[in-house]
Order: sequence, then C-alpha cells, then structure tokens
Amino acid sequence: MSTKEISSIKTVNPFNNEIVKEFQAMNKDQIASIIDKADVAFKSWRNTPVKDRAAIMAKIAALLLDKKEELGKLATLEMGKVLAQAIGEVKICAAIFKYYADNAEEFLADKPLKVPHGEAFLSYEPIGVILSVQPWNFPFYQITRSAAAHITAGNTMVLKHASNVPQCAQIMEDIFTEAGLPNGVYTNLYVSGKDIEPIVGNPKIKGVTLTGSEPAGASIATAAAKVVKKSTLELGGSDPFIVLDDADINLAVQSAVGGRMANAGQVCTSPKRILVAESIYEEFLNKTKEAFAQIKVGNPMDSDTTLGPLSSEKAAQDVIAQVEKAAEQGATIVLGGRRIERKGAFMEPTLITDITAEMDMYFEEVFGPVMMLYKYNTVEEAIAIANATEFGLAGTVFGTDTKKAVDVARKIDSGMLYINHATSVAPQLPFGGTKNSGYGREQAIEGLLEFVNIKMIRVTAPDQPY
Ligand code: NAP
Repeated sequence: MSTKEISSIKTVNPFNNEIVKEFQAMNKDQIASIIDKADVAFKSWRNTPVKDRAAIMAKIAALLLDKKEELGKLATLEMGKVLAQAIGEVKICAAIFKYYADNAEEFLADKPLKVPHGEAFLSYEPIGVILSVQPWNFPFYQITRSAAAHITAGNTMVLKHASNVPQCAQIMEDIFTEAGLPNGVYTNLYVSGKDIEPIVGNPKIKGVTLTGSEPAGASIATAAAKVVKKSTLELGGSDPFIVLDDADINLAVQSAVGGRMANAGQVCTSPKRILVAESIYEEFLNKTKEAFAQIKVGNPMDSDTTLGPLSSEKAAQDVIAQVEKAAEQGATIVLGGRRIERKGAFMEPTLITDITAEMDMYFEEVFGPVMMLYKYNTVEEAIAIANATEFGLAGTVFGTDTKKAVDVARKIDSGMLYINHATSVAPQLPFGGTKNSGYGREQAIEGLLEFVNIKMIRVTAPDQPY
C-alpha cells in the first residue's frame, strides 16, 4: 500500500507553511532489511582499523565544510532556522567529526590497569547496530552527535530523524556515502515516531539512543529495558541562567537574550529562566527590553534576520497557548506573547515576569522565543528556583567573582554548567543531563564510549600467582 497520502514525513516550509516535498514512509519489510544490512556491515566495520575509520570521519568533516551553504539552506527551508545559524551548525558538525578523526586512536586504545601481578587492560569493543532517534531543532548536529561517536567506535547505525526534516537526513546520508562509509554502516529510517517502539525489539538492534521529548524518551527506554538493551536519553530542559549581583550586566543581557532567541528559542539548552539579583533587576529588565527592540523578525534566509519562524504551525500554536495560559494564571507579559500577523509560523519575541510556583509555566519547558525573567533576593532562593523543575540539562551563572559563581554552579542539579557564558557546544565537552533531562553523554570521550563493551582482560602466566 502506498503510504504517500498519509505519511507525516514531509518538508513544510515554516516561513510560509507551504508543503515542499513529501516522502513515503518505509514499511516493516524495508525497515527489517535495512537493519539486516546494518548487522552485516557491522561484522566488517568492527574489524576495520580505527585509523581507517578515523580517515572517513575526517573526509566527512571536510565535505560538511565544503557543502555548508547547501546544508544550511536545507535546514532553513525545513525547520526555519536563520541561515547564518544553520551554517554555524554545520561547522560545529564538521568540528565534531574532525575531533573524533584526530582522537579516536588514542581514545579507543587498550587501557592498562594497575594490578599486583601480570597485567590487565580494558579493550573498547563496539556492540552492533545502534538505533538513533533524533529531533529537528538541530537537524545536522543531532545526527552528528550520535553518528560521529558511535560509528567511529565501530558500531553501525540506523537513524530515524524527525518527520519534518527528511531532506536534511538524506543529505547527511549522501555525504557519509560520498566520504566512503561502507554500505550499511549508516542508514536513515523514514518512519513516523509513533511506529518506532516495535523496532527497538528487533534482536539485531543492540542499543538505542534518543534525543527529544520526555514521552518519546520514556517510550523508547521502556521498550529497550524490556529486552535488556542499553539506552541513552537526551531530553528537554528549562535551563536556569543566574545573574549574580556582581555580574557584568551588559554581557549577561546580551548572552541571555542572544541565547534565548537563537533558533527561535527551540534549543534544549536555551537559557529559558533568567534569575536576576534584586539589586540589579531593574537595570537588567530595562536593558533586556532594549535588546528585544533590536530583534529583527523576518525571512530566515535573509542575512539581517535574527528571529525566524518556529519550526511548524503547530509549534507556534503550542507555545502561544502556553504563554496565554501563564497570563491567565497571573503572569505579566511584558513584551510580545502573540502570533505575528503574517504567513508562516511566527510569534513575537516574548518576555514574561511574575511567574510563581502556582503557575504551570514555573515547571514547564517553553520551546520558543519566550524569556521567563525572575527576581531573587538571596542566592539560596535563586538556587531553589533553579532546581525547582524536573529538568536538569544545563545552566549558566554570571558573576565577576568566578569562584563564587562556580560555588553556585555546583549547587545546580544539571549536567552542564557555564560561567559567564550561555550554553554552547564543543566537541571536547561532554553533553547530557540529569533528572528528567535524561541520562548518558554525547560528544567527547564519554560519548564515544556509551555504546562500547568495556571488556576487561586479565593476563596471568601459568606460573604466576593471581
Ligand atoms: P519529539 O516529539 O520527542 O521528537 C523527537 C524524535 O522522536 C522525532 O524523531 C520523533 O519522530 C520521535 N518520536 C516522537 N514520538 C515518539 C515515540 N512515541 N517513540 C519514539 N520516537 C518518537 O520531540 P520534539 O518535541 O519534536 O523536540 C523537542 C524536544 O526535544 C524538546 O523537549 C527538546 O528540549 C528536546 N531536545 C533535547 C535535546 C538534548 O540534547 N537534550 C536536544 C534537542 C531537543 P516524529 O518527528 O516522526 O514524531
């Protein structure tokens, strides 16, 4: 049966909400055959010397840089990201592939262990086909974060990307092939999210990784646990951004507003809750309003646009509904809060204050250009607000006394903390959260080793004592 008419997999340009291209969802047999192919490919890929795998990763990095404009335009078309940000995303992907290319041999080398007699060491061995499920908000970076690490480690991968970015998924697979990645080592699955769960049970799938919402993560992790497979989850966040009373206010405002509006606020590690010391609150608020006045909403393909549409009409409607509910519950909408009267999934950049623990928004993630601003009296109060949500992804502390800022950072229940900087990514820095933001790490050596068997080998000669 053709699923074309009912497939949710399609490019819809959120700048004007027009359907650009539709994709046919794969059927069960097609999916099973791709997983079979990945399993066969694993048998030789695992034995391919690490330096040869690394050479392909370096080639992928080079191709990504060569094609960064082409890729950038595809992301802008499919999910509305401002083009300059999309090109920046591609550059980060190239850096991650290059990082693993440069460091894989060292990271995957046997690690000797200190033992009283004979020798012992750890051998890092890939485990097989990894199922990766990814969201649309960084269409290339999300593929990169899981594929670069796990493929370098010698695993193979089948990846189900979000249904609204099929062309971004396709071009990444094409680049991997062009770089010389053997057939079957990486393949996209074009399938709707609701149909993923049964795939986890395929015995040839050896591990599962998902980035996305809590419900999707819980569904995948439950399915994996039932068949005793490892999973890693990178879920949502409502990151705190604490501004201490000795902070450089101009820098803090610039970092908070820039960080919050990037990618139209659709970033898991966006500074969603800005917590400002009472003594500097008024100044911070006024400067934030000035910064909001500089935001230029427009066509994400245009170089002077700083805020494009949200990723889809539904995304815009959902965020506006959250803001309206907060207003009904008593929050103050200082700026924005409404849909922008033009074609496309646009909403106004929004600034909200007076949010209390009686309101839903106090606890929720808001995945759009909405800054929640809180005033606190004591640092202990700031820490309590910061830790009040179920999320624990990242966070920021701004303060001139960096030792004091680090002391505050240690008390925030998050996986990543930045001092005097909004959250950013680098290949060397492990990425991941705690609490309901998930478990496991991506990037760096920690990410590389998530889906390897850390095998211990103890060598004792027959005539030696144990
Ligand atoms: P989502 O609905 O969970 O979608 C993410 C991926 O999961 C998509 O590929 C989606 O497929 C799939 N999916 C949906 N329902 C599923 C299910 N029941 N079982 C298995 N897979 C399922 O997430 P979203 O709302 O689009 O993305 C935004 C969320 O991702 C936010 O909460 C954000 O914070 C989080 N995020 C986290 C990180 C991080 O690193 N921590 C990074 C980026 C985003 P379909 O597209 O076909 O539905």
